[in-house]
Amino acid sequence: MTDGENTRPSNFIRHIIDEDLVTGKNDGCVATRFPPEPNGYLHIGHAKSIALNFGIANDYNGTCNLRFDDTNPHKENKEFVNAIMNDVHWLGFDWQDRLYFASDYFKQLYDYAVQLIKKNKAYVCDLNAEQIRAYRGTLTEPGKDSPYRERTVDENLELFARMRAGEFQDGACVLRAKIDMTSPNINLRDPAIYRIRHGVVHHQTGEAWCIYPMYDYTHCISDSIEGITHSLCTLEFEDHRPLYNWFLEELEVSCHPQQIEFSRLNLEYAVTSKRKLTELVDEGLVAGWDDPRMPTIAGLRRRGYTPRALRNFCQRIGVTKVDNIVEMAVLEDCIRTDLNETAARRMAVLHPLKVIITNYSESDVEELPAANHPQDEVMGTRVIQLSNEIYIDQHDFAEVPPKKFKRLTVGGEVRLRNAYVIRCDNVIKDAHGNIIELHCSYDADTLGKNPEDRKVKGVIHWVSAKHALQAEIRLYDRLFKHPTPDASDATKDGSDYKDLINSDSLRTLAHCYIEPSLAEAQAGEQFQFEREGYFCLDSMHLPGNVPVFNRVVTLRDTWAKIERKQ
Ligand code: ATP
Ligand code: MG
Repeated sequence: MTDGENTRPSNFIRHIIDEDLVTGKNDGCVATRFPPEPNGYLHIGHAKSIALNFGIANDYNGTCNLRFDDTNPHKENKEFVNAIMNDVHWLGFDWQDRLYFASDYFKQLYDYAVQLIKKNKAYVCDLNAEQIRAYRGTLTEPGKDSPYRERTVDENLELFARMRAGEFQDGACVLRAKIDMTSPNINLRDPAIYRIRHGVVHHQTGEAWCIYPMYDYTHCISDSIEGITHSLCTLEFEDHRPLYNWFLEELEVSCHPQQIEFSRLNLEYAVTSKRKLTELVDEGLVAGWDDPRMPTIAGLRRRGYTPRALRNFCQRIGVTKVDNIVEMAVLEDCIRTDLNETAARRMAVLHPLKVIITNYSESDVEELPAANHPQDEVMGTRVIQLSNEIYIDQHDFAEVPPKKFKRLTVGGEVRLRNAYVIRCDNVIKDAHGNIIELHCSYDADTLGKNPEDRKVKGVIHWVSAKHALQAEIRLYDRLFKHPTPDASDATKDGSDYKDLINSDSLRTLAHCYIEPSLAEAQAGEQFQFEREGYFCLDSMHLPGNVPVFNRVVTLRDTWAKIERKQ
């Protein structure tokens, strides 16, 4: 990968791998995997895991598999499978021919379960879910053995075969690992490894199975089958590691990957739990998985984020074992830095105020050259039209200017970006006293002059009223008004994270004016609207419709509590 990502990150996982390479472990191979469950779209936290797993494979000349962890068919579907593949590719990573599904291994997983039963390390248990919970004990109390724990191997083999054959109802029994009901680690208190699920059609295996393996059991075996060397997962699996190892040791597999845990990415003003993101979508609180306010990859893409910005973000936040919450400002800084370099400059007026240039001929139109990027000549120039009627932004004029106001005032002068200096001579108001128009005069002698030559207070953007295109501009803000919406202290009794949604998170400006050159913008293309921020033509845009531009990010960090010197 190029683009400024050449510096290899250093982190504790890479140190472990370096050490393994020195000692010759795994014959010098590095094989990782990204194992999403297809029960939702990927979010920014997944991007961290993707960048880590694929990044390590790239840097160590290893491989990274994409493996769908699809053992829970009633929540999973093909739409999610396709969206996930699309997002991983879009982020710039490639699993080549290594696309796998845990469901590819259902037969092997079944055979391994039979092997465990034969070793007297698994048994069919008829306790119901509630009883299993009661028998499990607590953190401070040991569990109790199930009355079915001492079933014979033959009895268990027969019952498990009948589970598979569909002879029992959902919940009638489960297959459990026989480990230790008194273990201080609750995960080792005879966890369930197979349960019965009738009446669901699995997106990969259809109705071939009515029993489904549990995640902990499936994951380690899938890793082993694929020859994974380093199985990287998030910290909540630390306590599951003994179970991961128990299965692989009992099954005496030849490949026993090392599970290594790292901390999850948490982002301020966002939720990164698939369950909660699903609720936001299903309850219509956002416009879908790709709503530009969502912290999903699809949402960030629609918002106008680039893959490079997200990869840089993942690199910047690093990989540790310490849980923390990343400031939104870090993510925004990554996209700002990227678009500052790559986005063409354009002018757009968000809150239009008509200006008549009274000494400019009504029939004249000038075509003025404007640079597409102030630092990058290669990006070339475009032509902008000037006529006697233009729009400027309402905020760029003040009848009663506050102190240090550097824009247009009555009798004051300002430079039109890429064009002349104008002076405001007259303010036209309606019957209610609202300003509806300004009458200005321009100084024909000021075109192309260095703004320093002519002492004007400021430079403002504008568009020719006769040429501009109408556009809708959507201004996005944080989706939640609380920095940690899903923390328990964020909500009062009876309310939850959904009550913390920021009702101003989308402001739509329906009547904006943009440069005519933007007619050629491609859906998804980003621009800097000078003095306003970075914007992206909505990816759902259809030629011929009024264009909708999403604000990707403001020009400066408006979040910083203490204003930084630029
Ligand atoms: P959620 O808790 O939101 O449902 P998950 O962990 O169940 O997420 P998976 O689809 O199982 O979602 O995740 C695939 C991989 O991405 C896993 O290895 C998981 O550890 C990792 N992952 C998920 N969320 C994050 C996060 N916030 N930060 C880093 N990695 C994550
Ligand atoms: Mg998971």
